[in-house]
Formats: sequence, structure tokens, C-alpha cells
Amino acid sequence: MDCPQCSTPDVIEIDQTLPDGQQVRFFSCHHCEEKWWTQGDKEVDLSQILEMVREHKA
Ligand SMILES: [Zn+2]
Repeated sequence: MDCPQCSTPDVIEIDQTLPDGQQVRFFSCHHCEEKWWTQGDKEVDLSQILEMVREHKA
């Protein structure tokens, strides 16, 4: 995937499993330091990730 901010293909991808078992993928751009997550083929924002984590802990 290319960075949505600066279009460089130089991004890190890390698969992560949330505490409730949902699979998300974390991306980080080397060039502009943009960070984002996807779940399946759709983008999710950090607040949604935190919400999922918080719901699981509650
Ligand atoms: Zn970038």
C-alpha cells in the first residue's frame, strides 16, 4: 500500500490482533510519519481502535 499522505510506497505493515480477537493492520510511513490502520479492506481511525480496546476491557 502507498502512503495516503505522500504517496510513497515506503511504508511498514504490521498485523495486529486486538484484545477482542479482531485483526487489524497497522501502517507507518517512513517518509512523512503518517500512521493508519485498516481492518479488512477498509481504513479505521485510531479512535475506533481505542474504542474497540476500551469496550473489551469494560
Ligand atoms: Zn507518507
